[in-house]
Amino acid sequence: MQQIDIITEKIKSSQRIDRTDAAFLFQQGSDQELIKLATRQKAKFHPADSATYLIMAIVNYTNVCVAKCDYCAFYRLPHQAGTYLLNYEQLCEKIDQLCAYGGRLVGFNGGFHPKLKLQDYAELFSKLRQRYADRLEFYEMTVAEFMFSCKLSKLSYHEGAAISKPHGTRWVTGGGAEVLDNGFRKRHSPGKYTTEDYYLAQRALLETGIGSTATMVIGFDETLEERLNHLESLRLFQDSVADNPLTSFLCWTYKPYNTEIGGQEITTREYLRWLAISRLYLDNFVHIRTSVLTRNQDALRGLLFGANDFDLPTEDEVTQKAGATISHDFSEILAFGENQGFKLRERQPFVLHKSSSLNAHKGFNHETLAHNAEL
Ligand code: SF4
Repeated sequence: MQQIDIITEKIKSSQRIDRTDAAFLFQQGSDQELIKLATRQKAKFHPADSATYLIMAIVNYTNVCVAKCDYCAFYRLPHQAGTYLLNYEQLCEKIDQLCAYGGRLVGFNGGFHPKLKLQDYAELFSKLRQRYADRLEFYEMTVAEFMFSCKLSKLSYHEGAAISKPHGTRWVTGGGAEVLDNGFRKRHSPGKYTTEDYYLAQRALLETGIGSTATMVIGFDETLEERLNHLESLRLFQDSVADNPLTSFLCWTYKPYNTEIGGQEITTREYLRWLAISRLYLDNFVHIRTSVLTRNQDALRGLLFGANDFDLPTEDEVTQKAGATISHDFSEILAFGENQGFKLRERQPFVLHKSSSLNAHKGFNHETLAHNAEL
């Protein structure tokens, strides 16, 4: 039996693929084979010919950051020119712009600001949430920012989460993960965190009842082994948090413009192939999301490669500074997806709910998830 047939059998019978399988598929599988397998895997969770989306903004409240990641074109050190920290009114202005586009979700994302304590974030976001409670959901901070502000505030991650939760925080995102491999982290962002630390923070948030997501960025100089380390640690982590799992996995691509390390963007084809590998390897993630932010309408080809969901972003200064271009012509992007045969439906933000049934390889409950996706 050839390796592709062995892997196909594994997917058909809901057995897990391993690293060797994933590496084989990425390096030697044809596009058609990846599409076929990823679609089969996706169909365990979602109708294969449909996908969902929502309009959202990433609101960058400050560009002050002391982490100094060499792939980042966004940050300014505290003493440099061009720093900003938006106040409540300025944030409301940005959020109102999103509402005018019909958006439903705000993801806050800033830098490692050396003066913002966790309490400051909790109070600010609480005020904003109350003002927009009837219209919007908020993803308050990335896990990376949460970790830094806990350290600055001399709080453990559990203590930090216990402050955020009563202030109303429902969600953070797994943003700031890039490639979860300590070799990669040492090369590019030694001041940020270790992989072990990242998962400790994710666990503390989930155990406190705050929802979170998983992310990955590819296209720096990471090796295939480093990418696989990311997927492997993530799948293991997701197994271990079955009562309140990470809701989705979003992969996007590095934009190399105006960054210290520069480089070239990877091709759309490479991105799509990695999306397929992610869908196949991360069998305990229901939602695999494709990135319009970094691949524009081409991201919707990711629906063929196993993705089932995407954002239509209205702004994100972090990626825009590094070369991302955002189109507000949403109908054109949606038409591109529909022309490929997908029925696209705008959804509400996900809701948090605890259910071990979300763990696919342990028996996925379609009804519960369909309900979740509707809400
Ligand atoms: S990627 Fe985030 S943490 Fe790193 S320098 Fe940029 S803003 Fe700071």
